[in-house]
Amino acid sequence: MQRSALRHSSSIFAPVVTGSVYFIVATMALLISRFEGGLAFIWGANAFLMAELLTSRTRYWPRAIMACAIASTLATALFGMGPLAAIPMAAINVVESLIVAIICRRFVPDRRIIGAIRPLVVFIIALCGVANVVAGVMAAAVASFITSVPFGASWLQWYSGHVLGGLTFAPILILLLQGECGRWLRDTPKRVKVEAIVLLALFTLAIVHVFFWASYPLLFAPLLPLVLIAFRTGQVGAAASIIILAVVGGAATVQGLGPLNLVPGTVGARVQYFQFYIALSFLLSMLITAELNSRRRLFLMLHDSEARYRAIAEHSGDVVLNIGVDGIIRYASPSAAEQIGCAPDLLIGQSAAHLVDPKDRRIVIATHRRALANPGVSHTVEFRSLLSGGDPQWCEMVSRAVVDERGVASGVVSMIRDMSRHKARQQALQDVASHDSLTGADSRGAFLEKLEAEILRARHGARSCLLLIDIDHFKAVNDRYGHGAGDRVLSAFVERLRPGLRGIDSIGRLGGEEFAILLVDSDIDRASMICERLRARMVAPIPVGEAGSEAISVTFSAGLVRLDGGSTRSAMLEAADKALYRAKHSGRNCLRLAA
Ligand code: GH3
Ligand code: MG
Ligand code: MG
Repeated sequence: MQRSALRHSSSIFAPVVTGSVYFIVATMALLISRFEGGLAFIWGANAFLMAELLTSRTRYWPRAIMACAIASTLATALFGMGPLAAIPMAAINVVESLIVAIICRRFVPDRRIIGAIRPLVVFIIALCGVANVVAGVMAAAVASFITSVPFGASWLQWYSGHVLGGLTFAPILILLLQGECGRWLRDTPKRVKVEAIVLLALFTLAIVHVFFWASYPLLFAPLLPLVLIAFRTGQVGAAASIIILAVVGGAATVQGLGPLNLVPGTVGARVQYFQFYIALSFLLSMLITAELNSRRRLFLMLHDSEARYRAIAEHSGDVVLNIGVDGIIRYASPSAAEQIGCAPDLLIGQSAAHLVDPKDRRIVIATHRRALANPGVSHTVEFRSLLSGGDPQWCEMVSRAVVDERGVASGVVSMIRDMSRHKARQQALQDVASHDSLTGADSRGAFLEKLEAEILRARHGARSCLLLIDIDHFKAVNDRYGHGAGDRVLSAFVERLRPGLRGIDSIGRLGGEEFAILLVDSDIDRASMICERLRARMVAPIPVGEAGSEAISVTFSAGLVRLDGGSTRSAMLEAADKALYRAKHSGRNCLRLAA
């Protein structure tokens, strides 16, 4: 979450300015609205202190609080309830503002009080539900002690005056101090600015008419333009319209003019009624702008992610389809042309089921329905497709529902991948892993797996043999002709062996110049015969040297063991290895049977 930058009020004049503004606003309120000789009915000064605290770093808070406390003391002493009440009232004003600032700072992590619903609700609860309930009790106690106004009436005066002051002025002051108004003036296109000014001017005219000229009580009339301004001009215009309403309406009401004159009772009671009216107007327009702001942010985010996903879809090798709830294709990515052999435009409007082999349609439709029923989860299905018009190909489809603003699935995004290519790639990788790259014989791992399987068969009665062979004096070949020639001998060695084996037999390279041969369905006699046949194939020399100019005869020693279903793989290998060892010690180029 991006945090709103706080002001850095390091100048020594900053507290002087803060205190002076507070003093002027407080003095005006005291001079105009102490209708009953106790507390003021209108109080905007604390809104200013709250806005100061909420938009500056906590490091500045002590100086701002001290400046406003002095200003409040002076204003109360000179124009309010007098010197006796001055210090307690200053303390109470500070307590109110501080409670609001602390709660908002605690519960609004990005520090943007205005412009979204949640922070606005936090601000309203802090101001109306906590700060002024507490501060009102303290202030009413002081006022009822010093003046003749009873505790209950004083509490109501404080509460309505401070809540109205906070709701009316704090938002616009916060916007102003955060530089939002300046930003609006700077970044807003001229046409929009002119529209805002014209709308606010017409609004002012309407308010003047309602509060000064109209002979009927038209208090509901400003609501329509208020909503219109909130929609057309956003939070800055909305806040400005509330100020216009409060200032013009307040001036009329204090002078005994306007529809509020119809309310029976004192001027004070009428002002309280008016404050209630302003508070509701404030809520109406601020909630609209907060909701509009969150929608605007959502729209920008969607725009961003749409662009990102479109880029992915358009460059993906997989086919991306947007399929409606009814199974009709709404979008097909460009890769459809290559993979399906059909231009994306031609797919749009077709039923996605037509791309699926009839045998698999039921399972694919079921997956589509499951994806719609469980948004937020990806559903995978493998099916045979009728893509490219040829034989059905195996495909994998991953589907995920797209939901509307109510969370209801409005369609499905499906990614279709041609599995035949994937399978071929997998096969190729498997081949690489299961074959020795030099000789083409089975790799050690692949051969041992076959051996394991053959031992299992032997357990069920099959008679097979394992033949272990090792080229004699191979080191000498390398030493004499070089490693490259040695490699050629190894490769030719396996090539020579192969024709001597049957299709069912396997040959694997266990390491270096050591090979193992699985002679399937052969007893020891047959296997020994095959071994001698292989030896005969080695009589002709293998050409070596750079241009194949020289040739060398290689021989091998061998150990043979019959596969015993009751023994383990390593026991079989060990037995064959011992026999091979004996062959080496018997002068090489011979076969020995395991004991
Ligand atoms: P022996 O008759 O006792 O088996 O003698 P040998 O020389 O064949 O025995 P030894 O196991 O000591 O030597 C095997 C040699 O095979 C050593 C090594 O350099 C060579 N070798 C192992 N792998 C390769 C290979 O991939 N290419 C080549 N050119 N030589 C290899
Ligand atoms: Mg050897
Ligand atoms: Mg060896």
